Amino acid sequence: MDRDEAALLLVVLGSGALLWFVGALTPPAATGDEQSAWRRVWLPAIPAATLFFVFVGFAVADPEGPQAIHATRLVATVPFAVVWARALARAARASFAEGGGPAWTEGLVRPTVRLSSELRARLEPGELRAVIAHEDAHARHRDPLRLWLVQLLTDLQWPLTAPRRRQQSWQRALELARDDEAARHPDVDPADLASALVKTASLVRPARAAGASLADDATLLETRVRRLLTAETTVQRERSASSWTRVALALTLTVGAFVFGFVASAPFVSLLAGSP
Ligand SMILES: [Zn+2]
Repeated sequence: MDRDEAALLLVVLGSGALLWFVGALTPPAATGDEQSAWRRVWLPAIPAATLFFVFVGFAVADPEGPQAIHATRLVATVPFAVVWARALARAARASFAEGGGPAWTEGLVRPTVRLSSELRARLEPGELRAVIAHEDAHARHRDPLRLWLVQLLTDLQWPLTAPRRRQQSWQRALELARDDEAARHPDVDPADLASALVKTASLVRPARAAGASLADDATLLETRVRRLLTAETTVQRERSASSWTRVALALTLTVGAFVFGFVASAPFVSLLAGSP
């Protein structure tokens, strides 16, 4: 078996299985904190991605370069290939879909806030400022891109239900965190955001696109309105690490895994060749 073929098989079977395995075992975050929920969503991706880059390094170290791949051996990868193809197709569709609803933020690269004329006509000036502050918070945090990535990651673990629960728990925490951010704005009265949420809910149609819609869940709506009216909003905890620190950590892990795969490639192959 050619080393690239072995690497391809190992990447799909190894990373795919690891993502499913860790994905099935990771519970949603216990607290309603957005950052803990976000980390919980990404936890299963860390071991799977590490293994992926080890095998990429392993394949790149092949002195012979890519050769013909035997289609028959790749049959084993079919279950994962189906899930990955479905996930990619859904991600592609979501990135082109038009957002919708009374108030939403869309745009994976440049998030833009959109309000329907119907909603603008219905809201008082204070309510309108509150809604814009909430949507601006989504735009500032690049939430459409984050929602899109989390949907892709959840789809890569299809048909497990645990990843879907982690995704929903994060999305709920996300809305509460953006409400808190809007409520802290000096020009916004939290009560205005609460009444705007109720007015918006009557206009909501189910959202399909990769965007952050203002309100689309009855229980969540109740919680959000209650928190805003009782000033239950919480100040986000100090970030344990800045996003740049996390990016640097992820890059180090990626490069480290790749280098390990590359360096360990020759001893591993000779070990396999020498084994009975
Ligand atoms: Zn929102």
